[in-house]
Parts: sequence; C-alpha cells; structure tokens
Amino acid sequence: MLTISPIPAFNDNYIWHLQRGGEHWVVDPGDAAPVVEALDGKPLDGILITHHHADHTGGIAALCKRYDCPVYGPGSIDGVTHPIAAGDSLSVLGMPTEVIDVPGHTLDHLALLLREPAEGSGAHIHLFCGDTLFAAGCGRLFEGTPAQMYASLGKLSALPPETRVYCAHEYTLANLKFAAAAEPGNNAVHNRIAEVEALRADNRPSLPSTVGEELATNPFLRCHVPAVARRAAECAGKENSDEVEVFASLRRWKDNF
Ligand SMILES: [Zn+2]
Repeated sequence: MLTISPIPAFNDNYIWHLQRGGEHWVVDPGDAAPVVEALDGKPLDGILITHHHADHTGGIAALCKRYDCPVYGPGSIDGVTHPIAAGDSLSVLGMPTEVIDVPGHTLDHLALLLREPAEGSGAHIHLFCGDTLFAAGCGRLFEGTPAQMYASLGKLSALPPETRVYCAHEYTLANLKFAAAAEPGNNAVHNRIAEVEALRADNRPSLPSTVGEELATNPFLRCHVPAVARRAAECAGKENSDEVEVFASLRRWKDNF
C-alpha cells in the first residue's frame, strides 16, 4: 500500500513524502528539517529531484549526510548521485517509474511518473511534476521558451485523465482566480473555486489534482478553446496565430495578474 502525503515547507511548498512497505522517499526536499520531523525517527531511503531551484534542492546535503540515501535527478545538480534523463525507467519503492523531460520553467526540469500496481492488471498513476504543471496553472518561464513549455504541458495533459498530479506548491486558489478571468464562462472553474476555498479554510491541501480536472479548469491547457484564445488576445492587444502564441499571451498576463 502506497501513501503519499505533503510535507509543508517554506511559505507554500509541498515536499511529497512517499511510503510503501516500510520504505520512505521524498520528492524535492527544499528544506531538510520538516522532512526529518515527518520521518519521526524512521530512515529515508531515497530522494527524487525535478529541477535545480533551491526551494526543491536545498535539503539534499543535510538529508544525505544524515541518511546516506540515493538522490535521483538531473545530473547537473549538486548532490544528485543517480543522474536521470528523459526515457529512463527506474524503480521507486518497488514501483516502475518513468522519467519525462518537461523544459520551460527551467531547462533541466524532469517529471516522474510512478505506476502503483492496483487491483487486477491496472495501476494508479502518480505524476510528480515540480513547477511545470500546477493545479489550474503552470510554472513561470525562467529559462525556456513558450513553445518548450507548451510542448511540456502537452506531454503531461496527454496522460490518462485519472492520473494524480502532485505539484510542488499550493498555488491553486490564486491560479483559479486567474482561470476565472481567462475563461469567465467556465462553470467547472467556479465550482472548483468553491471546493478549494473550503479545503483551504480547513487548512487542507488542494492537491493532488488529476489530469482530468486540469483539462477542465486549467487555462494553460485550454489554449485551443476559442473563449480562452479570445480573452488572451484581448489582454495582449493582438491576435494570436496559434496555440503557442495564446499560451505565451496567457503566461505574460498571469505574470502581472
Ligand atoms: Zn522552480
């Protein structure tokens, strides 16, 4: 049985904590102290890293010193002991895990797809996507181009709709407010705002999301929808000739929202 729980860190980061068969792994430990506290005396067996930003990597050194565990991630990052790249398959807590490259937020950004065996021949699919896909939003373009990010989001949105999406920040409510501005006629967005407001009022995480929920409410995955393209053009003050331009206009608008 796999359990996945968020360890809150800094203002709004989540370090995802995976437990199965007595093993413990974490994803993107930006800080060691909250991980040590969550482990409550149990050893850490492995670390997964999606990209080089400090709020995702800052805890690696202290955790490795304390637990001497392997670190899987982009090879250019200090402390990574097992470099991984697009197309690699690895075993995480005994589960097959696929590496997908998703450049855009950063150029080194990877996403990890875990397949948890389920009843019969099925699997529950868990996506750890760092700062690429957020609930109702996407990461800022610090290093990549809009075309790179749009292609990366396309890879993630093509996953089965029931795929669970574990983003690295609690940005959902602010993202949904932007989604409502980008597509005022989308009732799924308004319903989701009510759901997430209730969760947050209770201090509960709005995550994981699912790919299906994102397809219905995330404006950055809805650049093909005429109403979204129209609003993006109004805000940009120019027509956009394709979905990548719609995406770029939305992203610029969100940067200043
Ligand atoms: Zn980042």
